[in-house]
Amino acid sequence: MDSNQYRSLTVPVAPGTSDRRRLAIGRRTDGTALSLPVFVVKGARPGPVLWVQGCLHGDEYAGSRAIHHFVAGLDPDQLSGTVIAVPVVNLMAWEQKSRVSPIDHLDLNRVFPGSSEGTWTRLLAHRLLEAISASADFVLDLHGYRSNYFALYFHQQDEAGAMAEQLALDSGAPAVVGVDEAWLEQSLFAVLTRRGIPAILIEAPGEGRNDPEVIDYYLKCMQNITIKRGMIQGDATRRSPPDQLKNLISIPAPASGFVDLKVKRGDKVNHGQIIARILAACGDPVAEVRSPGGVALVLNLDTHGVIHQGEPLVMIGEFCD
Ligand SMILES: [Zn+2]
Repeated sequence: MDSNQYRSLTVPVAPGTSDRRRLAIGRRTDGTALSLPVFVVKGARPGPVLWVQGCLHGDEYAGSRAIHHFVAGLDPDQLSGTVIAVPVVNLMAWEQKSRVSPIDHLDLNRVFPGSSEGTWTRLLAHRLLEAISASADFVLDLHGYRSNYFALYFHQQDEAGAMAEQLALDSGAPAVVGVDEAWLEQSLFAVLTRRGIPAILIEAPGEGRNDPEVIDYYLKCMQNITIKRGMIQGDATRRSPPDQLKNLISIPAPASGFVDLKVKRGDKVNHGQIIARILAACGDPVAEVRSPGGVALVLNLDTHGVIHQGEPLVMIGEFCD
């Protein structure tokens, strides 16, 4: 069947079956429809609806590949509830191997709830939120670029906030971070949790590539969460309790130049500890970056080697007491 002939996501799927659907977004400049491929696996038994997605940022592929494996391994006869899986959310960015849309250059995870009248990225955010709100009980958003392994949830004192925290803990991530920072307020996981649909964002290293270790990690996260929610049978990964972090602090480069890193992802840093030096083209030091928070974990690090002033260099999360 031609991929564009798949039925819309709004058409029900019979219990104990799976189907491929399309989520309509809009029209390209040549008038053809742009829609996203969606897998729907509806269990023979009732249960919650999990929405899982990859490539919200178009160049973070490992989550998408893990979704392919996860869906292929689901048996509708043995499933309680429904899995709706969108392997590539930001299709136009993915086609360009780019983090952001090639049309309006906006970061999709900074524009939720989006707008039906907006440019591509805002329209995509709007349609996505509409579809998730109409169908999902909880959401996993798989990312992974220059990060360490961690799960991010929106810290909120209500049922959705508590469940989001539990999803992060259940994922098996070695670190979980509860945030309510203003700069993340228009990200999907925050907007959904505020609207009562618990959602988490899962990060991993690997620069977004199809790294088998990272793909396997994401697959285990999805399996752990569906096992813990009683959707599938199996044994969840056993780990020691994760590091619990708060206050996600993003530190921009204070100057442009070569980056001489003094820490690695996953390192514990103290207040004032040197994280990096910035060097001019000739190699002379021009600036240094020190950790501004309390005792923290290095969660994200730009390892490219050269950076421009104002670009995010490092992100840390402070340990909860
Ligand atoms: Zn991302």
